[in-house]
Amino acid sequence: MLTSKTRTGVVFFPAFDWAISATHPEREERLLYTQDQVFEEGLLDIEGVIEFKPDLATVDDIKRVHFCVPDEMSVVTESHLISAGGAKTVGIQVMEKHIERGFALVRPPGHHAMRVVHGARGFCNVNIEAIMIEYLRKAYGIDRVAIVDTDCHHGDGTQDIYWHDPDTLFISLHQDGRTLYPGSGFHYEIGGPTAAGMTVNIPLPPRTSEEGFLYVLDQAVLPILEDFKPELIVNSAGQDNHYTDPITNMSFCAQGYAELTRRLKADIAVLEGGYSIEGALPYVNVGILLAMAGLDFSQVREPDYQPDKIRQSGEVTKHIHRVVEEVLAGWKKAPEIRKKQLSGRKFAERERSIYYDTDNILESQRETLRVCPDCSGVLSIDSSTDTGYHILAVHIPRKACKECVDQGVKWYDSADARRFNRIFLQDRMNDQYLVRKG
Ligand SMILES: [Zn+2]
Ligand SMILES: [Zn+2]
Ligand SMILES: [Zn+2]
Repeated sequence: MLTSKTRTGVVFFPAFDWAISATHPEREERLLYTQDQVFEEGLLDIEGVIEFKPDLATVDDIKRVHFCVPDEMSVVTESHLISAGGAKTVGIQVMEKHIERGFALVRPPGHHAMRVVHGARGFCNVNIEAIMIEYLRKAYGIDRVAIVDTDCHHGDGTQDIYWHDPDTLFISLHQDGRTLYPGSGFHYEIGGPTAAGMTVNIPLPPRTSEEGFLYVLDQAVLPILEDFKPELIVNSAGQDNHYTDPITNMSFCAQGYAELTRRLKADIAVLEGGYSIEGALPYVNVGILLAMAGLDFSQVREPDYQPDKIRQSGEVTKHIHRVVEEVLAGWKKAPEIRKKQLSGRKFAERERSIYYDTDNILESQRETLRVCPDCSGVLSIDSSTDTGYHILAVHIPRKACKECVDQGVKWYDSADARRFNRIFLQDRMNDQYLVRKG
């Protein structure tokens, strides 16, 4: 009988009763073939690979991360609660040391869901990694977390949620935003003034294959993780870099994903995208699971796998080498940039538009951050949509200083209820969540 080297947990939740629409790429079939493959290969019979049933995420779990408009249950279905809950289950099992690593094989995905949620973006409603991480922080008191997003799309929702958090390192590898949704994730997006440098974007050219991904991992991702010293590494394990994926243009393979998993050594992997339902997902998922368990994955191979056909060009290799140099230079400069950003100003503002492509909603935001020398700073977001909602959302961070707590309460209390449909207070210091209705 086969025994895993690492005790590895799996939560499997295919959400068989939920899809955006019958023919949408993010539909039930995504995990059907994986299920067959995992059972056929006998992965769950391996000693040390343990299956867990997903918990349900609660409304309180969502409130810790998001401002949902008009409220939490209006923007999610039960499937979203189980998907986020499945990630949470894996996190709990790792923290309780019942397993050393775990993989949440769940859908619907979450990494395009931002701090404010008016609807679905890029097939995502709530951010399942962030919901898990903030739950673990509250329940187990962990502080420094790194998220490595290996989905082909930029993890713009996760980036948004952790933009001002100096204790969460967010590294996203993705197909260059000039060539793919959501069109962001450039090297100059490094995080807000109090967390500058803690967002690391690594845009890769189309047709990047195994060689490129592993080069980026070894030369940039692993050294940066080594510097940051996280207590927990979470892998947003999107699988749409696969050469057969119908909505992207990369050339990664199942062996590559498995090797990346082996070298990254994430504590927790959470499935994100991946839309090559038959050609990629079963193989990539089996590869990741074997790699997490410390088992041999050399036999994992797609039936049509021909390495020569998908090998990246010399041009692509050169481009990737330049990107890695840029990323490393940016990482080294980050403390200096942070120092500069912190000096001189009391408040920082940014205005932006966010398009919810899945639900066709356009949101305008004005964000105000108190640039605090003593904590990551209290935040207020004035958000309105073309569907007629206008809200004010106040976020007091986890380790807020007294002035920032006071400023947050003042923003919340003094907001004019006639101007807004909802006024939210997300007070992470006291784990308190308040809403005033206009
Ligand atoms: Zn990504
Ligand atoms: Zn994706
Ligand atoms: Zn402060």
